[in-house]
Amino acid sequence: MPTWVDADFPGGSIEVVRAAGRGPIELAIPEDSASDVRQWFAFRVGTGERPRDIVIQNAGEATFPNGWPGYRAMVSHDGARWSRAPTAYEDGALVIRHVPRGQATLYAYFALYPVARLERLLARVRRADHVSVGVAGESVMGRPVPLVSAGWGDRTVWLLARQHPGEVPASFVADGLLRRLAREDDDTVRFVLERARLRVAPLVDVDGAELGNMRTNAAGANLNRAWDDPDPEDAPEVHALLGAIEETGVDLFLDVHADESSPFAFAAGSEGNPSVTDELLAREAELRAILEDETRELVDEPGYPLDAPGEADLSCASNQMGERFGCPALTLEMPIKDCGDECVPAGWSPARAQRFG
Ligand code: ZN
Repeated sequence: MPTWVDADFPGGSIEVVRAAGRGPIELAIPEDSASDVRQWFAFRVGTGERPRDIVIQNAGEATFPNGWPGYRAMVSHDGARWSRAPTAYEDGALVIRHVPRGQATLYAYFALYPVARLERLLARVRRADHVSVGVAGESVMGRPVPLVSAGWGDRTVWLLARQHPGEVPASFVADGLLRRLAREDDDTVRFVLERARLRVAPLVDVDGAELGNMRTNAAGANLNRAWDDPDPEDAPEVHALLGAIEETGVDLFLDVHADESSPFAFAAGSEGNPSVTDELLAREAELRAILEDETRELVDEPGYPLDAPGEADLSCASNQMGERFGCPALTLEMPIKDCGDECVPAGWSPARAQRFG
């Protein structure tokens, strides 16, 4: 039987250039559904008896080509357990070594975490008496944007994940957090919930996740550049969440992302906000130090240049929230790569992201 390649599943995205014959399987990364961003890929390769190279020809034309050196694609034979495939970045192409096993093999930029998986988790989480699962609003395509609430303390903590749909490690962080939060007899959970109200939006760009987009929603909007003035047509997900945050207020804001080139997790804070104070910066520094100690994933070294004083982009969620509410507000960047010994530390995976959560 001839080799076949498809992306006909939630989160799938690939363009097949040539799959037949005995040479390499030639593929290309498509653009997001309504914008010119390209980085995310997810596809299945079926049948074939011999190992073949998969060549993603246009990797060098991706939005973040600096994400490829040291990068290894993720591979799964059952959609549940994922590992890293031997991958090379050569002459602008990403070359993945395909070793057939079973009916079909899945390859993706990072392990898949589709809406259906979140729905199964939320069905379990809502059985806990102290957790409620609701909806913040609707996406461009009419999907519910889930919102989990718990806690009865007097301070409000908001956490968002996956405003950028291709940054799937953020979904695994939210998954780990929600599993822990749903435990009935957990002293740490109780301690937190007695002191704080938690609001968790675990999958903000719910359409983008299903469409197989990297960075934009179904209307082509980059949701983490919409927080200064969210358009209810183009960015209804942010419009709804901002309304919900204004209702509750916020004392601590966390926004989970993943960075394509950083080999470690790091946090960006309010350092560039026009009205930031030394006191707020000290609180954010304290929070970073706690996260470093507790998770052993976060490194106190930015993965990109931090904003100069007064230069913050207030269309980003954490900057907007820090500026508007004067609270600690961090963008948490997980790695996507696992680059072996050059990483701090090596072996980044969905399970590690869950533990971080
Ligand atoms: Zn992001």
